[in-house]
Amino acid sequence: MFPEIERTLFTKHQIATRVQELAQEIVRDLETDLAKDDHSLQDENRVIIIPIMTGAMIFVADLIRELPVKLSLGLTSVRSYPGASISSKGAHLESDLPDNLTGKHIIVLDDILDSGQTLALVKAIILKQKPASLRLGVMLDKQTPRTIDVKCDYVGFQIPDEFVVGYGLDYDGYYRNHPEIVILNQAAIPKR
Ligand code: 5GP
Ligand code: MG
Repeated sequence: MFPEIERTLFTKHQIATRVQELAQEIVRDLETDLAKDDHSLQDENRVIIIPIMTGAMIFVADLIRELPVKLSLGLTSVRSYPGASISSKGAHLESDLPDNLTGKHIIVLDDILDSGQTLALVKAIILKQKPASLRLGVMLDKQTPRTIDVKCDYVGFQIPDEFVVGYGLDYDGYYRNHPEIVILNQAAIPKR
């Protein structure tokens, strides 16, 4: 079905196991954060997960089903790899961020940390709203020489500096539905 795939970096099983582990870390942190909140907030919606679309879609869908916590989602969309690009062209917000984040516990989730521009941009905008806590998580952390220093609280896997697809990540809009995290062969990326 996908002849243009050269090799698999992470299988379905490896991904599922790691997502469960990340969920456990997140639940532990949330329990600590929520315990510090004022009792009068008990019944309010205090946890907002912000997936950066479209790449984080599959990761977030899997992860939130492992979180036995009352939460809501606030989607946002950032574009940095337009069309058939395989390197960042600079991060741009494509949709507004939710505007109800003051005093809430926010977790921003993305598919992959590369230059750091995407998460740095989203983090700066969210902090202006003064959330009670803000944590960042990614499925993949690419080992690139990074000029922007963004620390992620949750990282699925470290990967070498290669262009990957699958598990939500695309090349020119395709391969998001591949269940593994994979590397395409050279022929599939003509502009490389
Ligand atoms: P950054 O802003 O950190 O440079 O890049 C983050 C965004 O770039 C990710 O949300 C993702 O959309 C895209 N990206 C970075 N590296 C890759 C990659 O190896 N494969 C794919 N498909 N997208 C990537
Ligand atoms: Mg992205």
